[in-house]
Amino acid sequence: MALLVQKFGGTSVGNVERIKAVAERIAASKEQGNDLVVVVSAMGDTTNELTALAKKISAHPPNREMDMLLSTGEQVSIALLSIALNELGIPAVSMTGTQVGIVTESAHGKARILEIKTDRIKALLEEGQVVVVAGFQGTSLSSGGTAEITTLGRGGSDTSGVALAAALNADACEIYTDVPGVLSTDPRKVAEARLLEEISCDEMLELASLGAAVLHPRAVEIARNYGITLFVRSSWNNDSGTKLTSQSNRQIGQEGLELGRPVDGVELLENQAVIAISHLPDLPGIAAQLFEELSKGNVNVDLIIQSTHQGNSNDITFTVDQENLEKARTLSKSVLQTIGGKISAEDNMSKLSISGAGIMGRPGIAATLFDTISRSGINLRLIATSEVKVSCVIDKDLGNKALRAVSSSFELNDHQTFINPIQVNNNCPEVRGVALDTDQAQLSVIHVPNRPGTAASLCAAMAESSISVDAIVQSERQHEDGSRDISFILKKDNLDQAQKVLGPLLAQWPGANVQEGPAIARISAVGAGMPNTAGTAGRMFRAIASAGINIAMIATSEIRTSCVIAEEDGLAALKAVHKEFNLDK
Ligand code: ADP
Ligand code: ASP
Ligand code: MG
Repeated sequence: MALLVQKFGGTSVGNVERIKAVAERIAASKEQGNDLVVVVSAMGDTTNELTALAKKISAHPPNREMDMLLSTGEQVSIALLSIALNELGIPAVSMTGTQVGIVTESAHGKARILEIKTDRIKALLEEGQVVVVAGFQGTSLSSGGTAEITTLGRGGSDTSGVALAAALNADACEIYTDVPGVLSTDPRKVAEARLLEEISCDEMLELASLGAAVLHPRAVEIARNYGITLFVRSSWNNDSGTKLTSQSNRQIGQEGLELGRPVDGVELLENQAVIAISHLPDLPGIAAQLFEELSKGNVNVDLIIQSTHQGNSNDITFTVDQENLEKARTLSKSVLQTIGGKISAEDNMSKLSISGAGIMGRPGIAATLFDTISRSGINLRLIATSEVKVSCVIDKDLGNKALRAVSSSFELNDHQTFINPIQVNNNCPEVRGVALDTDQAQLSVIHVPNRPGTAASLCAAMAESSISVDAIVQSERQHEDGSRDISFILKKDNLDQAQKVLGPLLAQWPGANVQEGPAIARISAVGAGMPNTAGTAGRMFRAIASAGINIAMIATSEIRTSCVIAEEDGLAALKAVHKEFNLDK
């Protein structure tokens, strides 16, 4: 007998027939002797329909009222499912987020879970009831102590499910949905997408945040932090689906269920070299040619950053182990002979990275890292961000100083601080899955000062307005006055707000201004085996180039490579990259 949390998504409870079918499934599991907590989403498109109703009345409805409105969707489905279960003779009781004791922050529309008071659920389970819980919602205690309904953000029922599993110490959490599990990419976009039997939480965190809507990223974060056994399975059959794997299993601490310490490690990787190539032609196939050549020479490239400049030329900067510098320089030069471009290289660099599943969605973390480093008087040479890691490249001589400052700033102890950790080969594929995100926009700040603190103050200003920026691309090329450009990728919804908060900051820097880029899509390949494999980036760039698509921006982190391309090329690029890595096989 096991205690299971089972979550059913909107499509799975989309009409009365489906609700009855879900009830049958739950009944079968109950009859096998399991204790069950069932989390459900609103039926079908309800949440979208309710949002559309509000938008007919106001372009900016108050967040509190939106939560009041949207939370009704789940209240309908829990009641109907409980009725269906009782009809089958299974004792079941429905509960709203408030009734079941899901306590959240007060941030309407994106509240994080602080605590789940499990006494009431436990008592009901004890009585043999199936407890049917409304997903996506919770309750916050306002300053006066009065209860307010909150929601966790779109797709948040997954997070309700996994959080309940963590709080109840359940044996497993099963997410039932309208696909067979986690696939190599979105099957609605690429028909050949294939089921993954297993994926690590780190990989899934990246994919989920980069457009793979099958799981809410915060659900994966909780599963990763607390070591929850998590499955994604089809609502339509009994196949085993996908198992998510994780290493850690923290205890729920005082900080709050979803607010546990966001950074759990810092590492310094010494003996790195940075190669900067500027004035490359802005044409399809250039990045492919360069990285294929490096891969033929067996040079494993770590971070890659590309940005486009006015005058239509590209700069590509990448890092390699110092011992590969000469080889990489020679190979790059041979490519430049045919395509043009200038090369410079610098050795004696170090990469400093912070990691933790709580970095995602908390823009203040990267801002704190950059601020800590700049306060130590250290200039950031390169920046790479991902959902679980932020890295920057700095002078090797200042590495230890930066490491000390960062570990004290994030209150990390000796066991969480690593110098030159040994890379273990984890036998994971170089690319596990690919995702396309069309929800993002590009913003560049032009002519900003080239000195410690610039990136920090830009990120801090946006973090204060809760704007998460992704792929911060700091160009190597300097303008004649020594100033530089920095580009960001951020959610389309945040574009106006970002321009507004950056205005006053840029006003301090003569000549600085902000430019919005063209409509973009971001395509990302993710795989935990990527750091151990040379040539992944080259293959990805070639696949995109062979489809006739130009790459505007490249940003990588340890386990992912992302390319920014024109929005209309998104689908073709996704198909090409999916095929290149044989994910359809
Ligand atoms: P639910 O209502 O069950 O929560 P969602 O619509 O939120 O379902 O998520 C399931 C959908 O996620 C699928 O129908 C699929 O189109 C989409 N999806 C995107 N990327 C992936 C992926 N890598 N694997 C599986 N499904 C994906
Ligand atoms: N009903 C909510 C939504 O559509 C929550 C969820 O389905 O997970 O976003
Ligand atoms: Mg969902």
